[in-house]
Amino acid sequence: ATPAATMVGTAIGARNGVLFAGGDVLERVRDVQTVIFDKTGTLTEGSMAVSDVIVPETRADGGLLTEQSIDQDELLRLAASAESGSEHPIAQAIVSAAADRDLDVGEPETFENEPGRGITATVDGRELHLGNRKLLQEAGIELGALGDQLTELEAAGKTGIVVAVDGQVAGIVATADTVKESAKAAVEQLQDRGIDVWMLTGDNERTARSVAEAVGIPPANIRAEVLPAEKASVVREIQDASGDAMMVGDGVNDAPALTEAAVGAAIGSGTDVAIEAGDVTLVRDDPLDVLKAIRLSVATLRKIR
Ligand code: ADP
Ligand code: MG
Repeated sequence: ATPAATMVGTAIGARNGVLFAGGDVLERVRDVQTVIFDKTGTLTEGSMAVSDVIVPETRADGGLLTEQSIDQDELLRLAASAESGSEHPIAQAIVSAAADRDLDVGEPETFENEPGRGITATVDGRELHLGNRKLLQEAGIELGALGDQLTELEAAGKTGIVVAVDGQVAGIVATADTVKESAKAAVEQLQDRGIDVWMLTGDNERTARSVAEAVGIPPANIRAEVLPAEKASVVREIQDASGDAMMVGDGVNDAPALTEAAVGAAIGSGTDVAIEAGDVTLVRDDPLDVLKAIRLSVATLRKIR
């Protein structure tokens, strides 16, 4: 690769919102056989909003709270107070939904992050668990009668956060995210080039499947419920099976996965971590820019010979 051609390619990229970290990156981008998209913030907007607040209608049976009823507002208030200690997009959605309803959100007395699962906290002396099935399972809390409703929310592409108060399930707060407008076109155009497209997420299987279907990623290429600490090894596995990969992510708990891939692509204004871990930065937050990067690398390297 002549330095001159590489410089031109890199400069054209920069003008078009595609930043290559160095000349050697172009070759690796050209040779990518697989593209792995992170779900949240990459295929989806990543700006979540609360879509449903669900409390059980009867609580006298089924092991639900009996002593004191928790209505929708109280559920949301407790959840928001607990989540005010978290920076996760889910937490921000819950806190702002509570603010919209003018609820009296406080600070948690204790707070613990459970990566890939949720949080535990104490609010007003009550022990709260907020998160997914895995979190409840590990705490030995039965989902009970709300299980079907959780499944329904997930099938609709929403992420249901189960709220347990003092060891008993009190309700579900669901958050919804929007699929990016150009995500489907990007997946299609990559597949048209013969590139194998995958999705990687910590979110549950059903929600993942719903988003994958919307963008055209086949069910066999979904890896869901992957803990943050496991994302890099899943990338390694996919690469072993499917060839050198470009991992596209926003850097929110996927920085090690970006580093592991043959090419790490940080999308969006992105976090500093992502940009550091990335070989390519896609400034515009547009999944179609993955194709721009590939086309540009092909064109630049072709001119060199
Ligand atoms: P992603 O791959 O989408 O970034 P994460 O690993 O951050 O996913 O989270 C995986 C799952 O863990 C979420 O879908 C949610 O169910 C649960 N979770 C994570 N953080 C929180 C939180 N602050 N509150 C409630 N649930 C959470
Ligand atoms: Mg993420």
